[in-house]
Amino acid sequence: MVAAFPVEDFQRMSTDSPPRILRPKRAAPADAVRPTRAEVNLGNLRHNLRVLRKSTPAGIYAVLKADAYGHGAPAVARTLERAQVDGFAVALLEEAIELRNAGITRPVLVMGGYYGKAWDEVLASNVTPVIYDAAQIEGLALAVRYAGAAPVLAHVKIDTGMSRLGVRPNELTRILDALHRFPEVKLDGLMTHFACADDRAGSSVHDQLRIFDRATAVVRENGFTPRVRHAANSAALLLGTADGLDIVRPGIALYGVAPTSGVGEDLRAVMRVRSEIVALRDLEIGESAGYGWSWTAQRPSVLATVPIGYADGLPRALSNKGHFLVRGHRAPIVGAVSMDMVMIDVTDIPAAALRDEVVVLGSQDGPQGRLSVTTEDLAAWAGTIPWEILTNVSRRVPRFYREP
Ligand SMILES: *Cc1c(COP(=O)(O)O)cnc(C)c1O
Repeated sequence: MVAAFPVEDFQRMSTDSPPRILRPKRAAPADAVRPTRAEVNLGNLRHNLRVLRKSTPAGIYAVLKADAYGHGAPAVARTLERAQVDGFAVALLEEAIELRNAGITRPVLVMGGYYGKAWDEVLASNVTPVIYDAAQIEGLALAVRYAGAAPVLAHVKIDTGMSRLGVRPNELTRILDALHRFPEVKLDGLMTHFACADDRAGSSVHDQLRIFDRATAVVRENGFTPRVRHAANSAALLLGTADGLDIVRPGIALYGVAPTSGVGEDLRAVMRVRSEIVALRDLEIGESAGYGWSWTAQRPSVLATVPIGYADGLPRALSNKGHFLVRGHRAPIVGAVSMDMVMIDVTDIPAAALRDEVVVLGSQDGPQGRLSVTTEDLAAWAGTIPWEILTNVSRRVPRFYREP
């Protein structure tokens, strides 16, 4: 059975039905008048979790920052929690609270490390803060004291070379002193993050891991016994360059995108973006199209207008670059991508008609078999990375969840 419905207002089906299927409380036509939508295949998400499980004995903390890379964090989290994922990792405290509000009970790690003065929120939502300086430990500890709460488990982030966030190894003792002074904060985990995780030879990963090991030794010499250590993102996990730690933090691979070439062939894309042809026109040789007239017909041409634009997350860099799929054929993008629309050349697809499905991202079956436009394709055409393609799919594109 296929169920497709918008993200808002879904609820569990009654108890005699399979619990994992979500059903809309009401149809949300306002979200779905325009035929442009992102279909999120939750079966493929579960498949990808299984693929990653086979790749590592470590616990899996699914990375759900940025609204689960654009897929919709509540639905993704619920699906993965039912599939027994070990925990979740997000960037913001706000994102962690969103997961708790969605009923998520597994551990939620807040990786970004900015809490402002919202320590009470950290306690109330029972999330796991990542910390890297002594002031954070003090702030958290005082909130625990004031609330008369149980000690909070925190993960300390070590900067082993990314030079972005985390305590520098030479300043580790300051953190450890603070942890001694404030027993309200318990060191539960140690983490770091790789700068070049897609480095196949893994030499920079090994350098960072050596620093991480030395920092771990210092932590232990000071009487702390972190329960878990973690470092690997999707690339390090699939390349196997950082094996032996307790937890892995895959993001992009869960969504079916190989983080680097040559790995993750059995992952399945989770998001498909589709629209429809809403207008067609014939152009004579020499007629131009779109803002700036950046494309001019070199032959009698048929252009189709597709209601998706840069405000939906379609990169403007795709102007006159790449293609969509119509009737199982490739239809090149022509002219400038505008805010709400873009044109494609369907001259070579004579049967192309109004309301035909247009696949922007994903596969379509046709006379040539199954053709696909992958997240990697879009990223390469636009000169960016798949992470940016997925996280840019904007709020305006309704997410429809599909259970195969
Ligand atoms: C985003 C992120 C991840 C996940 O990275 P992917 O490449 O998407 O697997 C892991 N750890 C940290 C700290 C991150 O910021």
